[in-house]
Amino acid sequence: MATINMMEPVAVVRCSSYEPDMVQAALQHSVDLLGGLDSFLKSGERLMLKVSCLNDAAPERAVTTHPSFLRAVIRLAKTRTHRIVVADSPGYVSFFGACKKNGYAEVAAQERVELVELVADDTRDCPQGVLYKKFPSSSLLRQVDRIWNLPKLKTHALMTLTLAVKNMFGLIPGTLKMGYHLRAGTDKMLFAKILIDIFRARPPDLNLVDGIVGMEGNGPSAGTPRALGLVVAGADGFSTDAAIARLLGVPVSRVPVLATYQSLQKGEPLEMEIRGESSAEILVPHFRLPAVGRGGIPDLAYRIGKRWMLPRPVFLRRLCDGCKVCVEVCPAHCLNYEEGRGIRFREPDCIRCFCCQEMCPSRAIDVKKPRLSLFSK
Ligand code: SF4
Ligand code: SF4
Repeated sequence: MATINMMEPVAVVRCSSYEPDMVQAALQHSVDLLGGLDSFLKSGERLMLKVSCLNDAAPERAVTTHPSFLRAVIRLAKTRTHRIVVADSPGYVSFFGACKKNGYAEVAAQERVELVELVADDTRDCPQGVLYKKFPSSSLLRQVDRIWNLPKLKTHALMTLTLAVKNMFGLIPGTLKMGYHLRAGTDKMLFAKILIDIFRARPPDLNLVDGIVGMEGNGPSAGTPRALGLVVAGADGFSTDAAIARLLGVPVSRVPVLATYQSLQKGEPLEMEIRGESSAEILVPHFRLPAVGRGGIPDLAYRIGKRWMLPRPVFLRRLCDGCKVCVEVCPAHCLNYEEGRGIRFREPDCIRCFCCQEMCPSRAIDVKKPRLSLFSK
């Protein structure tokens, strides 16, 4: 099992398209740069591939791990084992329904691998947990020998970026995720501690990040796809995320998971060895981040000025089809849907978790940054 060590190497390899042979060559090269496949998978082991299956968006929207990326990872793994399971647990939509639309079902059928939805039939201990020592979990985690984590490189309205560490939040089955969102509210650092505890409960053995086409702007579901041409691989999720932030030119202080991890490491700078592309270069200039959150606003100002200083969800009636997904996922219960009037939003109760924006299948929820937030971090 991978250890938490910021000196773990991270491989960064260029890949300009989802053409299967090109993706597979990039993945092979990235794993070779980390010392070879034998470190991450032995012959005959049972392997779980944790995809990023947020919803049923088509692959070209860059919301989910691209099916060609998944196919190439499966083919790489098949050089050691055929006991492969593709698994995830979206927050709201059915996993199998999403897989039919985002291309995973077709890949799984053609490559003869199993699709499994993670359900809450077990628990997972986290002795190192800062906030939590136990999580609800799927028994599949005990039945596999290895887990490979396949995040999509994306922005995230609350957490700035969603990469390797955030993708493992999907191990929490279905709507149980909402309880953790509700506890954290707008406190990004608190949510980061929760994500770090979940990640440490079962760190993946290998992280393979799909950055061939990533998402910038209003992520994680309604942002803009951007061709980045990157495959990033690392045994350690924190090193992997820190390397990507560096390549995007995003400071650690802007990424709550990394800033929190750094503070848990007693402020030691996050160092990692980048292999492949040069670590000195920002490979993706002018990468567009989402509207920023609470930043350094003190509590009193936060309570008084929430309406005027914090980014908030904005409901775009012309795009809304009335599916009510946002109403059902909102942990603060501050949304209703009225026929003929659309979404009714009780803004004072909103905790700015942006679950609604994350889950809306129609991209009908934007995140707007109020003018006064220009004066906050
Ligand atoms: S805003 Fe989005 S999630 Fe909410 S009802 Fe409209 S389409 Fe559905
Ligand atoms: S309205 Fe959206 S951002 Fe506000 S609490 Fe509900 S889900 Fe979170």
